[in-house]
Amino acid sequence: MPGPDRPTIANEPRLTERVRETARRGALSHAIILSGQGDLSAAARFVAAALECEGDGPPCGQCGPCRKVLRDIHPDVATVADPEHKNISVDVLRRTVADAYILPNEGRRKVYIFPDCDLLDPKAQNVLLKVVEEGPPHAAFLFCARNSAVLLPTIRSRAVEWKLSAEEETAETDDRAKQLCELLCGGKAADIVSFCTELENSKLDRDALQGILSDARDLAVAGLAATYGAAGDGFSRRLAEKAGRRRLAASVEILERFTRECQYNINVGQLTGALAVALTG
Ligand SMILES: [Zn+2]
Repeated sequence: MPGPDRPTIANEPRLTERVRETARRGALSHAIILSGQGDLSAAARFVAAALECEGDGPPCGQCGPCRKVLRDIHPDVATVADPEHKNISVDVLRRTVADAYILPNEGRRKVYIFPDCDLLDPKAQNVLLKVVEEGPPHAAFLFCARNSAVLLPTIRSRAVEWKLSAEEETAETDDRAKQLCELLCGGKAADIVSFCTELENSKLDRDALQGILSDARDLAVAGLAATYGAAGDGFSRRLAEKAGRRRLAASVEILERFTRECQYNINVGQLTGALAVALTG
């Protein structure tokens, strides 16, 4: 296991673990929105290190690329800013887009951090749209936004959203996320179907459903990490024992997919129905 001084995102143990687990699977998205309260830029830097890391348990904090990213001197990790204007100008973004098509200098990826998406008006975002949608495989975009609604739906639909301070979410969401996780890890098909039906009948909106799904995914990720020896809490150790690595990995994938689908404009009934099918299938 990597040493004790592995970097973390301050006050965000779950997000730290989630980034690490996703990076370990090589599944970090090329477009990530970091939203919510807390130090979004620090979280973005941590994700950038995970994208560039060449060590074990990315970001390891020990390898050359990690150290450069964390010290903000990596030539392939850029913070997109425009000190001369109030908002980031279209010119700056056009240069960013052109740069994204050039191969990395030394890193695995070219990473662009947008530290405050409030500074990206819709016109500016449209300049970025194509490169986010179908840019070169080496390019990655990290959007920091207190509220992801400042980003165009077209950008949001291409990105994965990770919320900071997830622990502030309601206890009720957390309970249902735990219940869902336990069902995934050994529940009967009939129980999963009735849980999904209950979700549908409780008339929650898509945001609430997304909260439950992303919490359940976090819990499953922590369980998966526990199968690799991560310390974790009692719940994640139980999940790891009960479900095992393979089942947890499959659950993480399903929950990840449905969390993303909540961003599209489809109704909760369709989503919970499809979820029941995916989970029992
Ligand atoms: Zn590293």
